[in-house]
Amino acid sequence: MAENSNVAPASKPGWKDGMIFRLLKMGMKRQGKYYALGVVAMIAVASMSALTAWSMQAIVDTMTDPGNRGRVAAVSLMVIAIFAIKGFATYVQSVSMARAGNGIVAQQQRRVYDRLLKQGVDFFNLTESSDLLMRVTHGANAARGLIDLIVTSMVRDLLTLIGLVAVMFYQQPVLSIASIILAPLIFVGIRLILGFVRAIMSQQMAGMAEILKVLQETSTGIRVIKIFSLEKVMNARMEKAVGEVEKRANSMVRLEAITSPMMETLSGMAIAGVVWLSAVNITGGEPTTAGQLMSFVTALLMAYEPAKRLSRMRVSLEGLKMGASMLFELVDRDLTIRESRDAKELKLTEGAVRFEDVSFAYGSGEKAVSGLNLEFQGGKTTALVGESGAGKSTIINLLMRFYDPTSGRVLFDGTDIAGVTFDSLRSQMSFVGQDTFLFSSSVMENIRCSRPEASDEEVMEAARAAHAHEFIEKMPQGYQTPVGENGTFLSGGQRQRLAIARAFLRRARVLLLDEATSALDSVSEGFVKEGLARVSEGATTIVIAHRLSTILEADRIYVLGQGQVLEYGTAAELLARNGAFRRLYDQQFGGVERAERLPE
Ligand code: ADP
Repeated sequence: MAENSNVAPASKPGWKDGMIFRLLKMGMKRQGKYYALGVVAMIAVASMSALTAWSMQAIVDTMTDPGNRGRVAAVSLMVIAIFAIKGFATYVQSVSMARAGNGIVAQQQRRVYDRLLKQGVDFFNLTESSDLLMRVTHGANAARGLIDLIVTSMVRDLLTLIGLVAVMFYQQPVLSIASIILAPLIFVGIRLILGFVRAIMSQQMAGMAEILKVLQETSTGIRVIKIFSLEKVMNARMEKAVGEVEKRANSMVRLEAITSPMMETLSGMAIAGVVWLSAVNITGGEPTTAGQLMSFVTALLMAYEPAKRLSRMRVSLEGLKMGASMLFELVDRDLTIRESRDAKELKLTEGAVRFEDVSFAYGSGEKAVSGLNLEFQGGKTTALVGESGAGKSTIINLLMRFYDPTSGRVLFDGTDIAGVTFDSLRSQMSFVGQDTFLFSSSVMENIRCSRPEASDEEVMEAARAAHAHEFIEKMPQGYQTPVGENGTFLSGGQRQRLAIARAFLRRARVLLLDEATSALDSVSEGFVKEGLARVSEGATTIVIAHRLSTILEADRIYVLGQGQVLEYGTAAELLARNGAFRRLYDQQFGGVERAERLPE
C-alpha cells in the first residue's frame, strides 16, 4: 500500500493504512442499518446466482425429456422463483447500498467542512481553493466508493464466486480443476493491464484538478484576464488540461475494453473445450448429461464477472484510497490556530487593547513585527501609519487572533486573548476593510450577517446610519436585490457602505478599519467618512490609513517602520517632532505650506 505516491504528504506516518478501518468504522456507525440490509440482499443475490447455474442441469435435462409434464412445471416454477428472488434482492441491495453511500458522502462533506471552518486564516492562505473543491467533492465520493467496493467485493462477489465454483465442482470436478489451473493465466493478463490503468488514473486526477483551477481563476480573475487580454493564455491552459484529461480518458477506455475481446475469445475456447471433452468422454466414467455440462459451462461463464471484479479490487481500491485520503488528509491537517482548552468568555469593560512586547513572523519567514508595545485606549481612535510592509495589517491580524504572536501578549482590558474563546473575542469586534466580501444573496442578508438575529428594521437603521439606505432603496428590489457573486452589481463606495452598515449592526466595542476610504470618489468618500464617524462613536477604533487626511484627528497615531514603532503621539505632536510622520505628511501634502490642514 505504501507504493501509492500520488497523495499529498500525510500528517501522521502510517495513518493511511488505518484509514480504511476509520472509514469503515465511521460508515458502519452511521449507516450500519443500510449496510446490514445490503449485505443480507447480497447473500441472497450470490445464492441465487449459484442456483441459476446449478438449475441449468435440470432445465436442459427437462427440455431433452419434455414428456414429463410434472417435471416441466416444477422446473419452470423453480426458475421463476430463482429469478424473482434474485431480482428483488438486487433491488434491495442497490437501494440500501445507495442510501448508505449517499449518507457517507453527506457525512464526509459535513465533517470536512466543519473542520475547514475551524481552520485558521493561514490555512486558507496556503491552500488553493480548487484543491479544496477537488478534495471535498471527489474525496467524499471516493470514501463512499471505498466502502461500497469493500462490502460488495467481500460479500457479493466472493460469495457468488464460491457458490459458482462449488457448482462447477459438483457438476464436473475434473473440468473444474482444469479451468482453475487456467484461471491464474487470465488474471496475470488483467493485472498487467490494470497496472497501466492505475498510472493513467492518477495523471487524470491531476488534470481534473487543473481544469477546476483554471475555471476558478477565470471566474475570480475575469477583470484581470480581460484587461490584459489573457484570454489566449487562459484558453491555452484550459486546452492543455482538457486535452490531457481527454487523452487519458481515451487510453483508459482502450485498456479497459481490451479485456472484453480477450475474455470473449477465452470463453469461446472454454465452451469448445467442454463440447470436445464431453464428446470424447475423457474421464471414462459415467457419461455426463447435456444438463450437467450446460450447468458447468454456465457456472464457469458466470464466475468470470465476480472473479474479474475481485482480481481488480486491489487496483480499484488504490484509486479510491487515493481519493479518500485526499479528504482525510484535509481533515487530519493540524489546525493552524486553536482555542485554548480552558478558554474563557471575554468580558469587556473599557474596551482597551494593549500589545505587550509582541513579535510575530509569518511561517518561518522574517519577523513581520517585533517588540511592539501598543496602547489602544478604550473608546478612542488610534491610527496606524507607515509605509507598505511596515506591519499594519499584521497588527490587525494579531488583534483578531487570526495568528498568535511568536512572543509577547495581546490584551483586551488586561485579559490575554490567547485564553479566551474565539466567539467571545470576535463578537466584540467589527471590521471594515478595503475589500468588502459580499455573499451572493440579497442586500438585506448581506448586512444582517454581522448579527443574524437582527430584525429588518434594525438592518435598515444600520443602513441609514451608514448612508447606504438611499442607494439601496433605489435598487430594483430594494433590500431584497441580489448583489451578484461577491457584489459585482455594486460600486466600491456602495460595498464599503454596506460594510459600514454591517459594523453598525454588530455594535462591537472594538472597530477595525483598514483603509476604508481608499479608492473612492469624493462624494462616496464623504458618505463613507460620515458613516465611519458615526459607527466609531464610543468604540475603540483602530484605523489603518495611507491617506493621512483621514486620521489627523485620531487620539493617537503610531508610526510604524519595518515592524517597529518609530514614534507615536497626536498629529500635532508628531509634526512638531519633525520625524518619520513629518516626512510622510510632507510627501502626501506636498510641503510645509499645507500644514494648515491640521486641525486646531
Ligand atoms: P502593511 O499592512 O503595513 O503593508 P503587513 O503587515 O501586511 O504590512 O506586512 C508586514 C510584513 O509581513 C511584510 O514584510 C509582508 O511581506 C509580510 N507578510 C504579510 N502577510 C504575510 C503572509 N500572509 N505571509 C507571509 N508574509 C506576510
